[in-house]
Amino acid sequence: MAHENNGFKIDPWSSSNIDDDDIEKLVKEFGIERMDENIRQKVLQNRFIRRKIIFGHRSLNDVFKAIESKNPWAVMSGIKPSGSFHLGTLTTALEIVEFQRMGAKAYYCIADIESWEDNGISYEEAEQDAVDNLADILALGLDTTPKRTYIWRQSREPIVKDVCFKVGRLVTQNMLNAIYGEKPFGLYLAALIQVGDIVLPQVMDGPQPTIVPVGIDQDPHLRLTRDLTERYYKSFFKPGATYHRLLPGLDGSDKMSKRNPNSYFTFNEPLESIEKKLKGAFTGGRRNKKEQQELGGEPQKCMIYKILMYHFEPDDKKLAEEFEGCIKGELLCGEHKKTCIERVLNFIKEHQEKKEKLIEKARNMLDVQ
Ligand code: SF4
Repeated sequence: MAHENNGFKIDPWSSSNIDDDDIEKLVKEFGIERMDENIRQKVLQNRFIRRKIIFGHRSLNDVFKAIESKNPWAVMSGIKPSGSFHLGTLTTALEIVEFQRMGAKAYYCIADIESWEDNGISYEEAEQDAVDNLADILALGLDTTPKRTYIWRQSREPIVKDVCFKVGRLVTQNMLNAIYGEKPFGLYLAALIQVGDIVLPQVMDGPQPTIVPVGIDQDPHLRLTRDLTERYYKSFFKPGATYHRLLPGLDGSDKMSKRNPNSYFTFNEPLESIEKKLKGAFTGGRRNKKEQQELGGEPQKCMIYKILMYHFEPDDKKLAEEFEGCIKGELLCGEHKKTCIERVLNFIKEHQEKKEKLIEKARNMLDVQ
């Protein structure tokens, strides 16, 4: 069972898709701040903020103050090594790269303790996925010079285990129940290990604002971490976060899910398979050409539009034109899908080539044979 409050549920281990009404409730009930126009103007170079994919934040103003006074700040994130990269993991990975480009030092964790607790994947079994996932983020442009990045595996990082034991003293069963609902004890432990991950930048390099880009489903971890940081590490900044909307399933289902292979594709999938899934993607188009031209389409519902908006249409002006063209019935789904498929396949092809060359580097960085 997940945390419930007035009937509203949020569970970081099931990543259910969260709609606009839910977001509204989260903002009200848990104090997430809206990404208002004032803030957006300060970070227009960040595509996810500019396009309102990131809709909310906590403590982002601490980061702006650090930037203004030329003080260090951090972006922290990670991946659970339990499968290949897909469009959802791409969002977080690119957010890290963007924040690093804005001046943050990137801290990236391989959450192998979580893949054991959540999926029963042993540390050894997780190693190949960890290497693969790291090669993906390297191919996406993470700057790995040591003063710009620190990468760790939870199972091998003494700092995160140490933090877990230290803050564990302040945690009660009631608190965990209130935040996560009743879960296996291992997941609670994994949550405390994540507290360690999130405060690691400050333990390692001194107090500094830290931003964790996450899907809204991960907010319970942030609430726990902020509470414990405030109580245990009094001189630290309360870790902040940015929250992005999660992409629904390609086929129109609520979420991208391994149980439904048509709802997502991975970056390791054969191109023909990706193409087939995109051809079958859910659109906001009408039943036929005539209706589309008369009534216009509904891009806000359309997975083709969403994929382009999140990742594959770099030009804001063109994106706006496509939106308008769809609504006016001037753009037809067939041609639009074709453009989208071409872009995705080109990206995946180039990405796979780049990544191939980085596997060895990832292996070395994680000390995996
Ligand atoms: S024209 Fe494009 S944006 Fe509009 S519904 Fe069709 S595929 Fe989606």
